[in-house]
Amino acid sequence: MGRGKSERILILGGGYVGFYAALGLQRRLRGGEASVTVVDPQPHMTYQPFLPEAAAGAIEPRHVVVPLRRTLKRCHVLTARVTKIVHEAKKVTVETPDGQQQDLDYDVLVVALGSVARLMPIPGLAEQGIAFKTIGEAIYLRNHVMSRLDAASSTVDENLRRKLLTFTFVGGGFAGIEALAELEDMARYATRYYENIDPSDLRWVLVEAAGRILPEVRESLGVYTVLQLERRGIEVYLSTLAKSFENGHVVLSDGTEFDSDTIVWTAGVKSNPVIAASDLPFDDRGRVRAKPTLQVDGVADAWTAGDNAAVPDLSRIEEDPDALCAPNAQHAVRQANVLAKNIIAVLRGREPKQYKHRNVGSVASLGLHKGVADVYNIKAKGFIAWAMHRGYHVGRVPTFNRKFRVVADWLLSGLLRREVISMGQINNPRAEFDRVSRS
Ligand SMILES: Cc1cc2nc3c(=O)[nH]c(=O)nc-3n(C[C@H](O)[C@H](O)[C@H](O)COP(=O)(O)OP(=O)(O)OC[C@H]3O[C@@H](n4cnc5c(N)ncnc54)[C@H](O)[C@@H]3O)c2cc1C
Repeated sequence: MGRGKSERILILGGGYVGFYAALGLQRRLRGGEASVTVVDPQPHMTYQPFLPEAAAGAIEPRHVVVPLRRTLKRCHVLTARVTKIVHEAKKVTVETPDGQQQDLDYDVLVVALGSVARLMPIPGLAEQGIAFKTIGEAIYLRNHVMSRLDAASSTVDENLRRKLLTFTFVGGGFAGIEALAELEDMARYATRYYENIDPSDLRWVLVEAAGRILPEVRESLGVYTVLQLERRGIEVYLSTLAKSFENGHVVLSDGTEFDSDTIVWTAGVKSNPVIAASDLPFDDRGRVRAKPTLQVDGVADAWTAGDNAAVPDLSRIEEDPDALCAPNAQHAVRQANVLAKNIIAVLRGREPKQYKHRNVGSVASLGLHKGVADVYNIKAKGFIAWAMHRGYHVGRVPTFNRKFRVVADWLLSGLLRREVISMGQINNPRAEFDRVSRS
């Protein structure tokens, strides 16, 4: 027996989990069975694995995001930021772009707020650092890196030139390595258009606290990736901590010091802090405690999945009874599909199913025609891995529209060469207006 009234389903977050859960619900819900509202400060879902290629100009940034309103036609989309969850009262407070607070009532809650950058109390980090998680950051970094080349080619100050051409990345997970490798590849290519900048003038530095990079793939591929990066002249500091970034002066735990005008912080993520301030049960890392059915543990009418959830990994439960699903897109998409089906099952009086998926591995791009892959127990390097990366992700990016546009971008840059123009003005669009108004 179903619950017999039209339920209000409220989805917090329109990223991987929120988007796919809403898609699954709108496809399956019968007319009048339930309404679905998705709340996100952004009007789009971001396909994060394509951010490095968007930053490198291989893909047009608009094509790595999927508009929520166009795709979720049977859902309500609210552009707002969730500030408070009081599940006991079934109330969520949101802040709309005009700064107003609104309370939203609901019957069923889906918590899909993802993760945020994990910052550390390092002097200068808050002022100098930039994360790499949103499309805005990817666009900013591309323009920033290219505009450093422009500024360096025009200055007569040798020290400043060196600082402008030094790019530091902290964190050797997928996001950091792919962003570093793609941007380095782009910048090296771009130097051919600068008569006074040689590729060897660029200094790229990777700092990683652990003794290896890319924990998502087997160690041998991590070692291979370090060798590949070093062969390209990238300096890799393993088992090293960043101590200070004050005024763009980088100090590392091994005593190395240098100036760098670009500091990209990709040293891990943590669960969205809205959760730790809510009345939902959460673990020591601020993740909502979930049952294998993706219901919030011990709480009725609340569901969760993705980076902000501690979901038991049933595929590894025999080796490790406390194993949790890793925070990655592979789990997020599959969990969202199960979550949508389970919500409908419960609405219709049926039992929800348990989520179980064995990680199939990972693919990573390290720049044009370069990559590493470790999928279905197959290890691959170089061009083959890069082709696998492209094939896998174009198959995965949501909607035919985006698949088509991404492939078209790749074909165009193959045919017409990659685009390396700097649009640094975007980072400060009012500067010209201010100058004119002051003159
Ligand atoms: C650069 C990069 C590359 C990656 N590459 C891979 C890869 O190759 N393979 C892989 O498996 N994984 C990859 N990942 C990880 C993967 O993208 C995440 O695991 C996945 O996005 C998690 O999905 P999610 O729905 O939990 O979170 P997200 O997709 O991050 O969605 C969270 C949503 O919540 C919204 N939100 C945040 N705060 C609020 C708030 N207060 N109120 C309302 N909404 C809010 C955000 O705007 C966002 O839309 C990558 C991540 C990055 C950053």
